[in-house]
Amino acid sequence: MTSAAVVHSHDYGCDIGPHVFPMDKFALVRGSLIASGDVDEAEILCPVPASREDLMLVHTPAYLNDLEALRWTPRTAYSELPLTADIVRAYVLATGGTIRAAREAVARGFGINLGGGFHHAFADLASGFCYINDLAVAIRVLQRDGTIGRGAVVDGDLHQGNGTAHLFRDDEAVFTFSIHQENLYPVKERSDHDIGLDNGTGDTEFNRKLEEGLEHVWAHHPDIVLYQAGADPFEDDQLGALKLTLEGLEMRDRLVLEGCAERDIPVVVTLGGGYARRVSDTVRIHARTCQIALRLARDSRSLA
Ligand SMILES: [Zn+2]
Repeated sequence: MTSAAVVHSHDYGCDIGPHVFPMDKFALVRGSLIASGDVDEAEILCPVPASREDLMLVHTPAYLNDLEALRWTPRTAYSELPLTADIVRAYVLATGGTIRAAREAVARGFGINLGGGFHHAFADLASGFCYINDLAVAIRVLQRDGTIGRGAVVDGDLHQGNGTAHLFRDDEAVFTFSIHQENLYPVKERSDHDIGLDNGTGDTEFNRKLEEGLEHVWAHHPDIVLYQAGADPFEDDQLGALKLTLEGLEMRDRLVLEGCAERDIPVVVTLGGGYARRVSDTVRIHARTCQIALRLARDSRSLA
């Protein structure tokens, strides 16, 4: 038994054709966590799709109408995925997963969605491999429900969380922090705190800067942290030029997750990107992130 919630559905996977994004990673991470004994299959929570009402806390009706009608318009055209009913359904479901994980995190301390982290989506604009900004929707849902007041997003993905930064740009209640490769997609928006890294940045420098950046997050005193734990700062990633090792990524995860645990801040893990030459490396990185959260949750419960 564990006290961290793990949320996943096999319907997170969808057919996107030949693509650099390994859609099967969600199910593979699930399988890895079950095989390692970190979670029982029966404990995995199945999400319901985010409602239109929930999505409208972040996205515009015109944009949601485009998605529902599967229409290529100036709002959907920047997607780097096909636009099919199956794909839209998967993104709306994974957003429901992040909402569920966030609610569970408030109750239990840790919530893990084996999906999500779609940080490039804007209110009325698809971007990259992202149609719905699940991080922003989850924060807005919990605020609407009166579950939280203040929130923070810690974005450890290779790419800047541009959509998230823009969505919360004028909102003092939500702090956005992104650490990413500077010289890379996307065009940068302004987060509350950005750390843009040079190509070739390795473990030590990344984690030293992350630790400094996290001080700004702690100073905000969030009621919840949404952690975008992209696997793509990895040294063998096909899209990036950061040089983090598996050990360096584990240290990244510990800085974020232990930092939240020490401060009793509920934290939600979402997976985000990951394009390692070998999909097994991406799965291993994501599974390790989840294991750290699961074991921290277990340890903190046994101390309680
Ligand atoms: Zn990424």
